[in-house]
Amino acid sequence: MATVSFDRTRKAFGAHEVLKGISLDVADGEFVILVGPSGCGKSTLLRMLAGLEQATGGDIRIGGRSVIGVSPKDRDIAMVFQTYALYPHMTVSENMGFSLRLAKAPKAQADARIKTAASMLDLGQLLDRYPKELSGGQRQRVAMGRAIVRDPKVFLFDEPLSNLDAKLRVQMRAEIKALHQRLKTTSIYVTHDQVEAMTMADRIVVMNGGNIEQAGTPLELYDNPANLFVAGFIGSPS
Ligand code: ADP
Ligand code: MG
Repeated sequence: MATVSFDRTRKAFGAHEVLKGISLDVADGEFVILVGPSGCGKSTLLRMLAGLEQATGGDIRIGGRSVIGVSPKDRDIAMVFQTYALYPHMTVSENMGFSLRLAKAPKAQADARIKTAASMLDLGQLLDRYPKELSGGQRQRVAMGRAIVRDPKVFLFDEPLSNLDAKLRVQMRAEIKALHQRLKTTSIYVTHDQVEAMTMADRIVVMNGGNIEQAGTPLELYDNPANLFVAGFIGSPS
């Protein structure tokens, strides 16, 4: 079970309250997309789920268990960022296996996982290359491969495609969705691209100023936006 629950989750940086009590349940295997204006707290919400920031109120649960105080490495979460810093001096294979080496996974198991991930991501022929020998899309795939090899329960994506050109973005959307359908990993994905949200999400969560304005399927939000803010964001004619 990899349901994720935010339960009146709050976060303040000093006097600045960034998340004002977020309640959201993400179902096992669901692909949820967070949208909202810059600064509304999307990255902070992901970072708290990953354990990179501490909540200042409320609870966060993974698989029904509170993760407050649980270290990032014990949360079974993998995160893919927009700046997918690969290690330049390591090959594709070494980049993908790095976290497994840190976790002291047996070499045979690590090699098998790297091989499986590489074939899923069409990187099988590139395992001995270095990052500088790869295209932008291939590098982004290596970054995803690094996350996949850890076999996480939950995938977090923070604007993973915003550094790619338009054509590659369209292709990578389809690849990420195909990967999700194959792995069925609970996924939370942040984007400011409406098309990305409408085409990829099982459910879209529209945030604004530290609160959730509305959560629903793309069609629900398009047909019945709760207010003008959501309508404006989704681009529906309300
Ligand atoms: P988003 O990802 O939606 O653009 P963020 O979650 O990055 O927004 O940031 C939300 C707010 O929290 C912003 O006002 C940002 O300046 C503030 N913030 C984020 N991280 C920190 C931090 N480490 N210290 C102080 N303020 C922060
Ligand atoms: Mg952000």
